[in-house]
Amino acid sequence: MVIILKANISQTEVDKLVAKIRSLGVEAKITEGTDQTIIGLVGDTTRVDSKKLQASGLVERIMIVQEPFKRANRRFKSEDTIITVADKQIGGKKLTLIAGPCSVETEEQIVGIAKDVKKLGATAIRGGAFKPRTSPYSFQGLELEGLRLLKLAKQETGLPIVTEIMSTSMIDTFVKEDVDIIQVGARNMQNFDLLKQLGKINKPILLKRGLAATIEEWIMSAEYIMSGGNDNVILCERGIRTVENYTRNTLDISAVPVVKKLSHLPIILDPSHAAGLNWMVDPLSKAAVAVGADGLIIEVHNDPANALCDGQQSITPKEFGELREKLKVIASVVGREV
Ligand code: PEP
Ligand code: MN
Repeated sequence: MVIILKANISQTEVDKLVAKIRSLGVEAKITEGTDQTIIGLVGDTTRVDSKKLQASGLVERIMIVQEPFKRANRRFKSEDTIITVADKQIGGKKLTLIAGPCSVETEEQIVGIAKDVKKLGATAIRGGAFKPRTSPYSFQGLELEGLRLLKLAKQETGLPIVTEIMSTSMIDTFVKEDVDIIQVGARNMQNFDLLKQLGKINKPILLKRGLAATIEEWIMSAEYIMSGGNDNVILCERGIRTVENYTRNTLDISAVPVVKKLSHLPIILDPSHAAGLNWMVDPLSKAAVAVGADGLIIEVHNDPANALCDGQQSITPKEFGELREKLKVIASVVGREV
């Protein structure tokens, strides 16, 4: 249930109303808009008598929300959520460009790529230290050493770091090591224990869509994080499993307008994991910007042919720079900036 208050209601009256709602065991989340105050109700709203509320004289309109997600719902908060990371904003007018290798391999590799993409205008550097690989025999990441090297890349460039978490046991370490954006990978999108624990910290979470998750299931996973108190969730569409096997996955481009309609959370696209082919990163990135995504996360490697992971879908720093120039043109058409 969403209660839209009349304009010019005093703070005392708002407080009284909220206290009344909370006394019924229902949580009330207040959003102060420029013109109006909105109270989003979470919990068993059957306890709230909407007729009585309407009769209070304070209420402009009451909306019953059909979707199972509340905090992530655009009906609860009509303005786009903008997440601040270091001196950057994710979800604002300027597009977010996260670039970097699939995995951190060596100091030279990650620091070198970070310096390159920084010069080329990247917002943040990505790199996996803990890798969710299909085979236990594949490279599993440098783990703690990888985190240390990412921190070094951050020190050298000032770029915030984005890296994936796979287990609740690493949350304290990720916070202590000051990972700027914690990625939850596609395979962990419904690791509910992990989501709940990430709800208790205040770091931004990059939540990738599961390989076979519906948009609603994906937003419900965001809701898990938000219901714990962490509202800093960035959604990431990275391709889903379909009958098509020419590409690694199928980029669900329509997820962007759907998410924008249903939720206020920022959404970025990952063309690298979606297609699994380096030459498709360019056209899919352009499509992502055109369709209204808030940014991209792209695998960039200095030596894709010898990458320890996902070289086939990685572009070089030079190609990243060229792509960024093309994105400027498309961004300007849709009212965004690069
Ligand atoms: C990654 O970003 O390196 C990754 C493993 O992505 P996904 O979870 O989307 O497969
Ligand atoms: Mn990868």
